[in-house]
Amino acid sequence: MTIAIAIHGGAGTLRRQEMTPEKDRQMREGLSAALEAGHRVLREGGTSLDAVIASVTSMEDNPLFNAGKGAVFTLDGTIELEAAVMDGASRDAGTVTGVTVARNPVRLARRVMEATPHVTLGFSAADAFARKEGLECVSPDYYYTERRWQALQEEKARIAAGGTEADVPEDRKHGTIGAVALDERGRLAAATSTGGRTAKWPGRVGDTAIIGAGTWADETCAVSCTGHGEMFIRAAAAHDVAARMAYLGQTLREASDAVVLQTLVGLGGTGGMIAVDAKGNVAMPLNCEGMYRGMVDGQGTRMIAIYGDE
Ligand code: ASP
Repeated sequence: MTIAIAIHGGAGTLRRQEMTPEKDRQMREGLSAALEAGHRVLREGGTSLDAVIASVTSMEDNPLFNAGKGAVFTLDGTIELEAAVMDGASRDAGTVTGVTVARNPVRLARRVMEATPHVTLGFSAADAFARKEGLECVSPDYYYTERRWQALQEEKARIAAGGTEADVPEDRKHGTIGAVALDERGRLAAATSTGGRTAKWPGRVGDTAIIGAGTWADETCAVSCTGHGEMFIRAAAAHDVAARMAYLGQTLREASDAVVLQTLVGLGGTGGMIAVDAKGNVAMPLNCEGMYRGMVDGQGTRMIAIYGDE
């Protein structure tokens, strides 16, 4: 009876010299709370699907993370959220993009999976579906945080001055949250939620909303990604981990390292991912300075970490 869970709160952290002890503590507390929310579900015999939803919901409600409350702004100063969920045993999946009213986009993605004949709903249709399903809906100012608004102003100034992607500070580039889990019946699940990238074009769809790019789960493994979404889409990053394991016989570690440290690096795609396999092994590779992350693997080893060298 093996259970395991891993979570991430986004890649691309503050550089060590810019991180205050207070911020460090808050981030680790937020990660611990989210990890515990999902792990409790698993300990009590719940499904991996319920566990990943519990972890992701906890971080969507925490303004420190780029998802739900505290999400980043588009170039127009609006909020367009994305989320995905996938159940490995059935390969059922649901995703949403361009969400502007749901307090918890991951719950909306789950309803798309369970209550529609489709995998993805976007924009006004996703908002209308949230209301129809009776999910908690909020006004745009619910998501607002001063920090993200300032980040948008700085990003717009950088773009206006002709800055390139290389000039974007690490903590500005990334942010997304996710969870992957294995339950006691051997079922795997993954969920991801994000505001996307600061100053993204309105209407832009990122990897989070695309099954196989930012999120994947089957009988082999469950994967949730964070990083420069366009590259994760072009690498089919999340699915490639499962494919490498199935077709090449690679371990979870080998497969996820190959995608993050080779394929994505080759494309210039910074970020990382969390992954769990059917034995409860966990891998959390990253190719940038840090990734907010935590896990309790199948051996019961618990860890919370921020920097790559932790
Ligand atoms: N993957 C997300 C996106 O491109 C952002 C991130 O994880 O940093 O929308």
